Amino acid sequence: MTSVIDPKSETVETKQMSLLEQLHPDLKDATVDEVNKAVATSRECFSKWSKLTIRERVLYLRKVRKEIANSIDEIVDVIVADTGKIPVEALVNEILVTLELIKWYENNVDRILGNQRVSTGLLMAHKRGEIRYQPLGVVGIISPWNYPLTLSMGPIMAALFAGNTVVVKPSEVTPHVGIKVGEIFKRVGQKYGEFENLVQVVVGSGFVGEYLVRSGVDKVAFTGSVKTGKHVMAVASETLTPVVLELGGKDPMVVLEDANIDRAARGAVWGAFTNSGQTCMAVERVYVHEKIFDKFVEKVVDLTSKLRQGEGSGMDLGAMTWQRQTDIVKRHLKDAVDRGAKVLVGGEDVIVNSRASISPAVLVDVDHTMDIMTQETFGPVLPIMKFKDDEEGLKLANDSVYGLNSSVWSKNSTRIEYFVRNMQAGNVCVNDTMVSYAISALPFGGVRESGIGRTHGEEGLREMSQIKSVAYDRFNLKTEIQWMPIASWLEPMAKKLIKFRNR
Ligand code: NAD
Repeated sequence: MTSVIDPKSETVETKQMSLLEQLHPDLKDATVDEVNKAVATSRECFSKWSKLTIRERVLYLRKVRKEIANSIDEIVDVIVADTGKIPVEALVNEILVTLELIKWYENNVDRILGNQRVSTGLLMAHKRGEIRYQPLGVVGIISPWNYPLTLSMGPIMAALFAGNTVVVKPSEVTPHVGIKVGEIFKRVGQKYGEFENLVQVVVGSGFVGEYLVRSGVDKVAFTGSVKTGKHVMAVASETLTPVVLELGGKDPMVVLEDANIDRAARGAVWGAFTNSGQTCMAVERVYVHEKIFDKFVEKVVDLTSKLRQGEGSGMDLGAMTWQRQTDIVKRHLKDAVDRGAKVLVGGEDVIVNSRASISPAVLVDVDHTMDIMTQETFGPVLPIMKFKDDEEGLKLANDSVYGLNSSVWSKNSTRIEYFVRNMQAGNVCVNDTMVSYAISALPFGGVRESGIGRTHGEEGLREMSQIKSVAYDRFNLKTEIQWMPIASWLEPMAKKLIKFRNR
């Protein structure tokens, strides 16, 4: 039996045990040959796509945006069927956010990826310097199941705007969303008679993702767990294939005693429970100043007990997507309770949309000996802990191997600045949570074990580009002063120049 990742891991995939085929008997894992063929087809398409100007790419990708906007009902249906989330979450957090991102790229890609003149400095004043952002080639994208549309489309669109073509391997848990993405690109290609093969989709379990990493793609954009991300990076290092890794988090929310408690409580409930807590940048642990702790907890419990969890429109949250995740949440809850935590509301087994889920849970009496405060739970739990002063609040927030998102809640700009500056995270939200992801101009990504590289914003586009530096000669002189034969005056003159420039 060929093990693809650590056999002790929970997410171990083996070729004999296809998770895709267990979860979706209607589908089959792509073979190595099929993955390689998809990459070859993508490369063929790249030879034409990469020759377009940025403007021409924008005009084409605008058509894709329109096609998505005209297909929202069909896309929502597939997302809801694959994930169990409520329709409004699919509509707002997946489709709307994606369309806004595409629009932002349309309006900014020229400025970001156009050739850039740079100053050449005093000594090189007779040269002209230019930076070019060229496409990499074929980008392999591997995506997770929690936001299967936006977490595929974000990197896909960045790659395409930058002139690359794409092969995407959607999560085996939510493959139909990936298939739908492929259909949309095909549809646009067929409608306009070109670039039908811009995006190839290969479905399959984890090992199919590994085929893609090994297939000779020019970059891998991976979104998923830390464990798989490390493995992907190790495999990619064999061929020095560059990677961007968007991984998990254990995101802290710190509420100071001068915060707007009502707003912070509502923010915590949304941040922890939207998408049933299955969000990489969800609020996973809350630290509240001791002076307002009881009041804050009371409000959070009140709001949580009123949440409507169920199927379809009119609900606040839907189902957990699959049993494996529900089991992790149950394990963390049990570990916390065994170590002395108190569950104030929720944490019960419920069936939503025919899926085993957990009712949204609020916990107190938690500490950092518990998995629920240190490991990614990725479910509807909200553990709340007390702190005494800003220093302790910051120390607790930074006590993690992760560093994806974080938030601070206060009215005092000096204290806010202290947290913004010192939080060990790729993203900080002030008096809000998670919202940085929806601001297309803000690069998104993590520090520490939450990842490498960025999506969104300028950095996201450049992540998908090859940077080329070009130095032009301006005057076409017969020789340059440092060329051979070396003049006898060069050495003393260089010494004088160094002294002069560093006086
Ligand atoms: P996962 O790591 O199990 O799987 C992610 C993808 O990797 C899937 O498509 C899977 O098939 C593939 N994969 C599995 N084994 C592989 C291998 N050996 N080689 C190549 N690919 C392989 O993660 P998941 O459970 O799908 O997603 C949840 C995780 O993703 C959470 O940790 C969450 O925090 C993280 N996440 C991060 C972000 C972010 O932007 N930082 C966004 C969403 C989710």
